[in-house]
Amino acid sequence: MKFLHGLGVLVIFLGGAQGLQAHWIEEEDYQQMKRQMAAHKDAAPKAAEPFLKFPESVLVDWDDHYLYVGSDGMPAHPMMVGITAWQQQVPLPQSYYGKNAWSIPLHPVPAAEGMSAKTNFFRGAIAVAANGIPIFNPIKNDGKTDTFLAGELDEYGGHAGRADDYHYHVAPWQLAERLGPSLPLAYALDGYPIYGLSEPDGSPVTGLDSFHGHTNVTGEYHYHASKSYPYINGGFHGQVSVQGGAVDPQPNATPVREATAPLPGARITGFEMSADKKKYQLEYVQNGKKGVVNYEILSGGGVDFTFKNPDGTTSESSGKQGRKGGGGSRPPPQDGNQRPGGPPMEANGQPRKPWIENHLTEMDGNQDGKLSQEEMMAEVNKTFTGYDADRNGQISQDEANGPGVRSAMAGFVKQHFTEVDKDGSGSISLEELKALAMKMWEKYSQGEGSGSSRRPPPQSR
Ligand SMILES: [Zn+2]
Ligand SMILES: [Zn+2]
Repeated sequence: MKFLHGLGVLVIFLGGAQGLQAHWIEEEDYQQMKRQMAAHKDAAPKAAEPFLKFPESVLVDWDDHYLYVGSDGMPAHPMMVGITAWQQQVPLPQSYYGKNAWSIPLHPVPAAEGMSAKTNFFRGAIAVAANGIPIFNPIKNDGKTDTFLAGELDEYGGHAGRADDYHYHVAPWQLAERLGPSLPLAYALDGYPIYGLSEPDGSPVTGLDSFHGHTNVTGEYHYHASKSYPYINGGFHGQVSVQGGAVDPQPNATPVREATAPLPGARITGFEMSADKKKYQLEYVQNGKKGVVNYEILSGGGVDFTFKNPDGTTSESSGKQGRKGGGGSRPPPQDGNQRPGGPPMEANGQPRKPWIENHLTEMDGNQDGKLSQEEMMAEVNKTFTGYDADRNGQISQDEANGPGVRSAMAGFVKQHFTEVDKDGSGSISLEELKALAMKMWEKYSQGEGSGSSRRPPPQSR
């Protein structure tokens, strides 16, 4: 990948209370992050699969609760060309790394009532494409304009936002070739995947809900992208936190200048970027006359702009990173078992005798002698729905001691209630049950107590 041949990746660190300082990560450090990812990728959660197809531009890591997707926000394809409604913003690398990486819930929880993107989420991203580029609501922040129909998007469905941050507003169809039909194009920020026009197995899509998603035969929910509205997920089936009209938390882009104004009648005709992502040239035509914007990222993190305007004049401006934004939007740790940069391998609550082994035949839906993650989750969903008699999204102690449900996991929940109730709230949420089941499944699938090992044993770190 081209940018790895450059000096490194532009990363902004929080520079204390005063604001931000720009730094460059040494090539060596970046490569170390990459090696760390490569060493553990066999144990990566399923949600990491599409992102791992773009190792040249995406760094993933994870803990028990989230997949973290790091990128500089710059796709490998040409940007901006084809835009006919331009706000004069241009793409600049962002620092979606570390604490400012994208976080995707690994154990999505259906919301009691989903939230539509027709009336919400006009700010910020609602999904992340497999190449690490955020996807915003197709409706722009005025709440009504379809960005695609309005000519605001380039040939790849993206443009640069008010912080000169590149993002898509529609599905990243160009990624489908590398991903193949079986992997999603993107993940919505509620943790559910977004597939293309057909099912992962190639069969046609039927029965979509108002968010353009549905539940498959194994009880898993996913969305489908489309060529017209909603283009991507039309809202959130799963739980998300909302703050200021945006999904929260999510990374911040770092503006270097005040947001620019629309340039009526301009059409972007060319865009070039140097291999080290430091020098850029954007060409456009307005009223038959050509305009050019050249800009360059300086070593101190500043950006110099030179505008050759269609009227023949030239102007310059320079910006500096650190006006606002940046830093620290990872979700807070939820337990003491965080292993940033590595796979979750602890198995708190794991019974001494592997419980999965004892109940394998009951849960092995396709009877192939192995318990897939899907089969495990199907069992979780069945057990949870069966116990949650009043449908309030929690299994109370009374519900667990009640008639319950006929499932392999039912007895487990009853016997291990306090262990499953990890936050000690006195009731079990679907997330808690899923989290524990996933830990048990991870351990099982790593081959402990099983003859069906598919994965190498955990590596010492
Ligand atoms: Zn936008
Ligand atoms: Zn589907």
